[in-house]
Amino acid sequence: MYTNTGKRMDSLAIADNLDRLSVTVLKGVGARVAGRLERLGLRTVQDVLFHLPLRYEDRTRVVPMGSLRPGDQAVVQGEVELAEVHFGRRRSLLVRIDDGTGSLTLRFFHFNAAQQAGFRRGAGIRCYGEVRAGPLTAEMIHPEYRLIDPAQPVTVEEHLTPVYPATEGVHQLTLRALTGQALRYLDAGDGYPAVRITDWLPEKLLAPCRMTSLQEALRYVHRPPPDASLELLAEGRHPAQQRLAFEELLAHHLSLRRLRFRGQQTAAPVLPGGDGLVSAFVRSLPFTLTGAQQRVNREIRADLARPHPMARLVQGDVGSGKTVVAACAALTAVEAGYQAALMAPTELLAEQHYRGFREWLSPLGVNVVWHAGKSRGRERSLALQAIREGAAAVAVGTHALFQQEVEFARLGLVVIDEQHRFGVHQRLALRDKGRAGEQRPHQLVMTATPIPRTLAMTVYADLDTSVIDELPPGRLPVQTVAISQERREEVMQRVRGACTAGRQAYWVCTLIEESEALQCQAAEKTAALLVTVLPDVRIGLVHGRMRPTDKEAVMAAFKAGDIDLLVATTVIEVGVDVPNATLMIIENPERLGLAQLHQLRGRVGRGREQSSCVLLYQPPLSAAARDRLAALRETNDGFEIARRDMVLRGPGEVLGTRQTGEMKFHIADLLRDETLLAAVEQAAAELLACCPENVAPLIRRWLGDAVHYGEV
Ligand code: ADP
Ligand code: MG
Repeated sequence: MYTNTGKRMDSLAIADNLDRLSVTVLKGVGARVAGRLERLGLRTVQDVLFHLPLRYEDRTRVVPMGSLRPGDQAVVQGEVELAEVHFGRRRSLLVRIDDGTGSLTLRFFHFNAAQQAGFRRGAGIRCYGEVRAGPLTAEMIHPEYRLIDPAQPVTVEEHLTPVYPATEGVHQLTLRALTGQALRYLDAGDGYPAVRITDWLPEKLLAPCRMTSLQEALRYVHRPPPDASLELLAEGRHPAQQRLAFEELLAHHLSLRRLRFRGQQTAAPVLPGGDGLVSAFVRSLPFTLTGAQQRVNREIRADLARPHPMARLVQGDVGSGKTVVAACAALTAVEAGYQAALMAPTELLAEQHYRGFREWLSPLGVNVVWHAGKSRGRERSLALQAIREGAAAVAVGTHALFQQEVEFARLGLVVIDEQHRFGVHQRLALRDKGRAGEQRPHQLVMTATPIPRTLAMTVYADLDTSVIDELPPGRLPVQTVAISQERREEVMQRVRGACTAGRQAYWVCTLIEESEALQCQAAEKTAALLVTVLPDVRIGLVHGRMRPTDKEAVMAAFKAGDIDLLVATTVIEVGVDVPNATLMIIENPERLGLAQLHQLRGRVGRGREQSSCVLLYQPPLSAAARDRLAALRETNDGFEIARRDMVLRGPGEVLGTRQTGEMKFHIADLLRDETLLAAVEQAAAELLACCPENVAPLIRRWLGDAVHYGEV
């Protein structure tokens, strides 16, 4: 029985809302448990209610043993028939139980004498576990069980059993008890006082979608009735779950919008864009800009001319020509007397950009310098000095550009290339980096992992988005084939054919091992082999462990056509641009993700010749690997590839947010709930218009203190 304690009354006196009621009012929560709950981010009773189940178990019915199938999770009840220790490969205790409809064997690898003694013949037992096929009867391995007196009926659970994300020292039973108490506050049940939980979504916003009320949704997801569809719940598609998912997506969206709003409150240098440098640069190019490039250039130009920092994402498939767009933006800053910094995720790509920019910009009298973590000695100090004194108009490099010792004289624009290789958080941290007094530089981020518009509006709601949705004219889609390693010889002859015809090729060696050293070794071995098999082909090797100057020399030779075949590790994944290369061999493509394979393949098909890509796989392929290779064969469209990649690996992995823990949802799932996103965006606008005061508590409810990036 429950009674209010003095402690509880005290808290209630000051808290009329569950978001201000500390977890310590709950029975069983002292300082120690509160500390552990804190690790789960649970401080208030509201937090407990928003600690949502990961999945459910059905313990509402006792299932006849005769109807069990392998894979079922079920409660069974019967009598012990036999218990014996079995000395097989591993010692185990086998307990056969029977309920008249069939029998079942419980198998324990860990057990003690007392436990063993409890399984007397004829004893009543109730257990819950997963059914597996066994040698004689169906089995449960280490089920939860309880010995019972068959004369005294034991009740089953009245609800589906929620399984919560747990942490050390906070077990399922504790979490179930806590959510149970929290629900009683919500319902004022069992003599608990009613404490409000506020629905921050106003009626007029909910009515059109016919959404479940917040209370109802919470009650349902924590304690689904026995007739609830486990399947629907497992997929997260029950209306109660969707109601909460909607609210969670809304909270995320609002937090990013708030960030964007705050950005717009800060000052940035006005870069009006004259007529000089940019147009001279565009005229100097051997091609004309595509319509899409021109449009995106205009969008960027308009942003830069405003006194607030631009925050724009340019999405464009591999080969769509993002670099030229970055150069135009950089020149707009230079024209206005400011510096631009271009940051690439790898040293190799930074080097490529440096060379490209120098070639493009030096003739215009624009000084470009290079700075990366590996820069040393005089080169390094000269670069730092040029950046500090403003002699460097454009600085190209890796994230080393944003380390403490790098000071810019007048930084006006930061360009981040291939942003999918950086996390959202890193991008936001960089935003503050170039701050000078009250002013912040403009920021342009570019990605070749294009995502659908609705998704972009959610994940990148702090950014404006531009899409380069057109490839330069005359590009032919890369033809992709998958060939087994058994036909390696044939593939090598194909490389010879391309090279003797004056084309160039890549041979990419991959390894799943994290060890870069092993990757490099594999590439060295392959290069040595190819040299002996293809004596008439000029072969070069590039990998991450080579000295920067050596790498650069090899890349320059390949670019100049002095090397026919470049053997490489995945360091060439992004940015390398040699239009005469028309053949790419990717070894062991089954080990790579879809987005990465698409990036690699994007190194060919950059000229007017038909290019091909050979996926030289190691059989047998897993089903997932087969799906990935099939996707690559079927499409060259980066949007489609990204979509399939998200289905296969999940959005967090594709967007690079999983590792950093960003965009971690309690209940929403970006892919499953994509259909909600348009409504989320609209609801955000309406909420900001009608009840802006609801925004902060809504964000706090779902993101808690994890919303560090919302506070910058
Ligand atoms: P990505 O978008 O993958 O970064 P790049 O900027 O590397 O693509 O451009 C790919 C290639 O296309 C480069 O060789 C670049 O010079 C060339 N290119 C860019 N824009 C055009 C254009 N409008 N017409 C023809 N070629 C172009
Ligand atoms: Mg690029």
